[in-house]
Amino acid sequence: MFILLMLKKKIKMAKNKKYVYAFEEGDKSMKEILGGKGANLAEMKNLGINVPPGFTVSTEVCDIYYKNKKTLPNEIKKQIDTKLFDLQKKMDKKLGDASDPLLVSVRSGAASSMPGMMDTILNLGLNDKSVVGLSQKTGNSRFAWDSYRRLIQMFGSVVMEMEHSDFEHILENVKDTVGAKYDTDLTTENLQEIVTKYKEKIKKVKGIDFPQDPIKQLYAAMNAVFNSWNNYRAIRYREINNIKGLIGTAVNIQAMVFGNLGETSGTGVCFTRNPSTGEAKFYGEYLMNAQGEDVVAGIRTPLPVSSLQKSNPKIYKELVTICNKVEKHYRDMQDMEFTIQDGKLYILQARSGKRTATAAVRIAVEMVAEKLITKEEAILRIDPNQLNQLLHKQFDLIALNRAEVVALGLPASPGAAVGEIVFTASDAFEKTKAGLDVILVRTETSPEDIDGMHSAKGILTARGGMTSHAAVVARGMGTCCVAGCSDLIIDEKTKKLTIKEKGITLKEGDFISLDGSLGKVYVGKIATVDPKLSGNFGKLMSWADSVRKIGVRTNADTPTDASVARSFGAEGIGLCRTEHMFFEGNRIKAVREMILAGDLESRKKALNKLLPYQKEDFVELFRTMDGFPVTVRLLDPPLHEFLPKEKKDIEELAREMKVEVKTLTDKISDLHEFNPMLGHRGCRLAITFPEIYDMQVTAIVEAIIEVYKGKSKSSSAKATAGQRKIAPEIMIPLVATTKEFEIIKNRIVEIVESKLKSAKIKVAYKVGTMIEVPRAALVADKIVEAGAEFFSFGTNDLTQMGVGLSRDDSGKFLKEYVKQNIFDQDPFEVLDQEGVGELIRIAIKKGRGVKKDLKVGICGEHGGEPKTVEFCHNEGFNYVSCSPFRVPIARLAAAQAAIKNKKK
Ligand code: PEP
Ligand code: MG
Repeated sequence: MFILLMLKKKIKMAKNKKYVYAFEEGDKSMKEILGGKGANLAEMKNLGINVPPGFTVSTEVCDIYYKNKKTLPNEIKKQIDTKLFDLQKKMDKKLGDASDPLLVSVRSGAASSMPGMMDTILNLGLNDKSVVGLSQKTGNSRFAWDSYRRLIQMFGSVVMEMEHSDFEHILENVKDTVGAKYDTDLTTENLQEIVTKYKEKIKKVKGIDFPQDPIKQLYAAMNAVFNSWNNYRAIRYREINNIKGLIGTAVNIQAMVFGNLGETSGTGVCFTRNPSTGEAKFYGEYLMNAQGEDVVAGIRTPLPVSSLQKSNPKIYKELVTICNKVEKHYRDMQDMEFTIQDGKLYILQARSGKRTATAAVRIAVEMVAEKLITKEEAILRIDPNQLNQLLHKQFDLIALNRAEVVALGLPASPGAAVGEIVFTASDAFEKTKAGLDVILVRTETSPEDIDGMHSAKGILTARGGMTSHAAVVARGMGTCCVAGCSDLIIDEKTKKLTIKEKGITLKEGDFISLDGSLGKVYVGKIATVDPKLSGNFGKLMSWADSVRKIGVRTNADTPTDASVARSFGAEGIGLCRTEHMFFEGNRIKAVREMILAGDLESRKKALNKLLPYQKEDFVELFRTMDGFPVTVRLLDPPLHEFLPKEKKDIEELAREMKVEVKTLTDKISDLHEFNPMLGHRGCRLAITFPEIYDMQVTAIVEAIIEVYKGKSKSSSAKATAGQRKIAPEIMIPLVATTKEFEIIKNRIVEIVESKLKSAKIKVAYKVGTMIEVPRAALVADKIVEAGAEFFSFGTNDLTQMGVGLSRDDSGKFLKEYVKQNIFDQDPFEVLDQEGVGELIRIAIKKGRGVKKDLKVGICGEHGGEPKTVEFCHNEGFNYVSCSPFRVPIARLAAAQAAIKNKKK
């Protein structure tokens, strides 16, 4: 009864509301209800651009459709019927009319663009009668039957859920029999034969006829588009791109214009600027005598739009003029679809074009120079995460000189990729999961391949242009891609790839290298190098630096990491995890000796062996950072992490250390902990074994003295005589209580002061703490009273202990939590601002309540994540610290936070 009431209420709700909009009734601000495609079509209509008429069924209807057990309430159907009536009047044609039929396209379009993920049906309204009418009316029977063939194929696979191959086999067979290379070589009779066979196949597989009633076709197609909102690939696309909070897709019903009317007709896709490089040059591809699906499917290789300039200068000029107008209007690079019907140009779609990071940066910077946008807008235009692409590896030029290009395709998505060949998306997914680098090699990709494409290091296809599925999706993902490499024969069954011209055959597991920026394919592995940043990127970053308010440091444990981070603009080290220095070379031996030592004396002896190594590392780090602050965190992990676990390794170590196997196994079991993350680690180690931190602090202060005095020549950095600026910060991990901090700080200060005094120098240094235990956040004021000079939030542990989620084990079920919207995103990737964020707010408030200028930073993995950077900006942090490759991302995100905050 209750459900019945609800249903009634919903249908009633539909009564008083507008759910269907003619294009001229909308505008670009209505994306939420009209979807991106619908809103932009409306906007173009308003701009006076030649857009075929139509109407949009709103995204709210999709929501109602699902809530209403996948049916449309009558009230909404009435609104659709009214708009269809208006459209028919406007076109002076009736849908599916036997003598002069109106045909429509039915397309999806959500508020966020999800290219190729949902369904489309074209040429709707054709049936056995109207195809004859269309043929007579246009005097072009080939065109009419080609359109009917396309409708049955699309409707059959999308709406009736037949296999795509059911139709492809029939098409290929007829083509083979009559010797047709392309679809365009088929005659009217051939197409009629195909139509008959298609209809027979549908009847055989589905047990029903292809629907002849155009209205039934229309509603079934709309339902199919709504259903495609929740198909696997659309859901995956939203997951991967973290698209949330949308209620569904809109459906656009638009009068068809035909690019397949003959050689004076055609269809294409164009970009107002190059989407790969960003060059301000009109760019695109088209096919004559074709419909839109032919360009995207990559069945025939399209022509560059520049050749339209030669073949049809009038249309080309008109197209360029429209594109310029639309770009100026939106003040952004546009991706547009057009159709030429018998020499007349129509625009079917315009949207902000997807682009590579290189293109995004260049377009933003050049649009500032063209006075189209401001510097602040340019900064806000770039998705900080997209910068990752710019930081991708390139091939080492020397190694490249020795390598031979074996095939050439289109440079679909930049970067360099090296990996083993796999032929299916599922193999790409599985092998990547097993830790291998793979290149996905396909004749062409399809939306079902999304998981494999996401996993692969690179994608190589034999077919398709720059706007093919592979190219568009790879660019969006920032994955290297070479597309349309027509010299390849790919046999997905036998898992073999043949490069015709070279006579080379490769099999699954063989290595290839791809250059996605130049479209080149190489056999074998080519060494790669890290990228250098300059030009447009440098300019954008300098604008970002001039507006951002918080500092960006790096997490670095080695001088190499530190200098990479410096080249990316890091302003210091926010976290040096000293334990990473314990594993290198011979050091691990001394560490193990220290752990196994039976008494204090022998423990100190072992620690003394480590001291010179530690000191050397710190000297290098201080030098590389050249006066920027360097935060050295004292030892954190539990000691058993330095001992082997496997029997064979234990025996080998016992032999090496000349101790009994039993002594070693006893020690290991002695150190064993059930919950090491909450065990004997961090400052707790220093409470029980203070000599460990004593050694580390001694190494730090000796390094300070050496660098300060400019004595050491061992540095690869510019070591010169004379004093150097140096800003060391010593950080204590895992502090939970004031007492822990007090005891350890006193010991640190004693060592540092006495060493500096003996060296007769004065160096400003700071001692602070990580805030990574919730208790520390709650007593932050007392920790500052005990002398903490800075806080660095260790949000990895603070999330672990604050949310009560294991850092190591929760990945498996957190995916489900995100799916069910319990968390918006994995709280180990994006800070849980509500919960963990509150602990941080409390700690800052309490800490700064005692010491107004308390320095506050973050060094957990969240420090390079744009939303968290914005949080840090808003909460008054002094800096964020992240891994070297995320430094530019954090710089840009910090600038965006400053701009948004100013706007607020
Ligand atoms: C943290 O806990 O956030 C942190 C930076 O320390 P670690 O990851 O080394 O535990
Ligand atoms: Mg930690």
